[in-house]
Amino acid sequence: MKPSFFLLNSNMPSGSASLIWFRKGLRIHDNPALEYASRTSAFVYPLFVIDPHYMEPDPKAFSPGSTRAGISRIRFLLESLADLDLSLKKLGSRLLVLKGEPSEVLIRCLKEWDVKKICFEYDTDPYYQALDNKIKNYASLAGIEVFSPVSHTLFNPADIIEKNGGRPPLSYQSFLKLAGEPSWASSPLLVELSSVPPVGDVASFEISQVPTLKELGYVQNDQEELTPFRGGESEALRRLRESLSDKEWVANFEKPKGDPSAYIKPATTVLSPYLKFGCLSSRYFYQCLKDVYKNVKRHTSPPVSLVGQLLWREFFYTVAFGTPNFDKMNGNKICKQIPWNDDDELLAAWREARTGYPWIDAIMVQLREWGWMHHLARHCVACFLTRGDLFLHWEKGRDVFERLLIDSDWAINNGNWLWLSCSSFFYQYNRIYSPTSFGKKYDPHGDYIRHFLPILKDMPKEYIYEPWTAPLSVQNKAKCIIGRDYPKPVVSHDSASKECRRKMGEAYALNKKLNGVVSEDDVKSLRRRLDEDGGQEARGRRQRQKLIS
Ligand code: FAD
Repeated sequence: MKPSFFLLNSNMPSGSASLIWFRKGLRIHDNPALEYASRTSAFVYPLFVIDPHYMEPDPKAFSPGSTRAGISRIRFLLESLADLDLSLKKLGSRLLVLKGEPSEVLIRCLKEWDVKKICFEYDTDPYYQALDNKIKNYASLAGIEVFSPVSHTLFNPADIIEKNGGRPPLSYQSFLKLAGEPSWASSPLLVELSSVPPVGDVASFEISQVPTLKELGYVQNDQEELTPFRGGESEALRRLRESLSDKEWVANFEKPKGDPSAYIKPATTVLSPYLKFGCLSSRYFYQCLKDVYKNVKRHTSPPVSLVGQLLWREFFYTVAFGTPNFDKMNGNKICKQIPWNDDDELLAAWREARTGYPWIDAIMVQLREWGWMHHLARHCVACFLTRGDLFLHWEKGRDVFERLLIDSDWAINNGNWLWLSCSSFFYQYNRIYSPTSFGKKYDPHGDYIRHFLPILKDMPKEYIYEPWTAPLSVQNKAKCIIGRDYPKPVVSHDSASKECRRKMGEAYALNKKLNGVVSEDDVKSLRRRLDEDGGQEARGRRQRQKLIS
């Protein structure tokens, strides 16, 4: 079967060596970089570099892991590498693992192994863009061919931006119109390789096996539940098959419908961590979904269908690629400038699941332990942190998600935080998730809370979402005294959400008045004014209260 998604000139001399540099794209199926290297070289060096930037243990971090990644994601990655190594071995090769700053390691390898071609999947993340430029520059000086196909996404974000006159589309609908069907969609993808050429001489390099967490210096906390999701292409394909086997479920999939509290059998596919690391090809996923649609009478459509979910991913990749400073408020043209508060104590309470709102805290425990939560659960905690209750900066929440999620993805995470904080894409800041009644709709008995916050496991269902309202006798019986065993709410949702709406209203008015050109000083002076007004209002409230009592 011929792949239809790239052109090549394969007049390589026999004996030539290629290096395939794995970063994401940790798979054999639909991997054009691996396929090209294999087809056109006598020797192939499959390399993964353990990058200290992401993987150096950080004992000072707020939870086990490195500065940039929680332990669950690191474990997921190591499992994915072990699985890739196993698959490569079946094809006559193996994964070579080296440690160090990737561009330095790579340049040494290219020199010592006399590599004629370097192949790696194109990556739009700013970190990899910078790294890839270094490698491309070196390769061009050294006369080494670079093959870097787009295979992490369905579309090349640059093509969509070009079609739109050089700017990214800012709505999902306009994205859909521009994107149409992917060019490769009608021909079958290359999903199997029969062999990979042998690894050449590794010269003086000390190549290690895929390391364990312990070998990397991580200490695991036995108390914490670990993510139930195993990394790797084999598990990704198994999960995909399992999801697709229920054709009715696929055909009727409708998001945001679905139960965010379902944790034993999640309401969505949980393929995001596999897509993040490229254990699963998004293009293969897309083709499989289209095959299911062909065989059913009726199916849902974007934005709510499963194909629609993959297109959300593409949408955020495209906007992120075409927007300078996409991951910041400052200097980001599509982001409303909002005078978020700075409060490390409140931030720590949110991050460490101590807000006193069991629904919010349970989700934050699921994040810390599993690294994955349902989309609507993410909505709830992101809204709570920003425009709903605490009025803290979305960048702070983004950082926590970025570190702890096993599916942590630069474009998607930033895009969704911009959305949830009503900084971009979505502007109905009056619509706030209730931290008490939203979860109750799906899970009146509070099983999800009981699982992730076992301290509340004996709280009667009448109080599980608002345990501070339980009489002391009930708290005693449930062996959970509020304020001692589990915190009181850090804010009162009613007054905090009212205050948030007021501040959002003022911030939106300022952005409108200044036509979106809001300076840092403008934001600061609005913050001062809002604090003064807020202070006056709070004093007024206290006085009124005194008069009443
Ligand atoms: P399914 O519903 O089964 O969807 C299939 C795939 O479609 C997902 O695996 C994912 O790749 C894609 N997808 C689904 N929803 C979205 C969406 N809203 N935006 C973009 N792509 C989507 N998703 C990440 O993959 N990485 C992140 O870092 C991330 N951060 C988020 C932060 C916030 C604040 C919010 C609200 C959402 C975030 N999401 C992120 C999007 C979404 O919640 C997850 O993709 C989804 O819950 C993953 O579960 P699933 O694979 O079962 O999704």
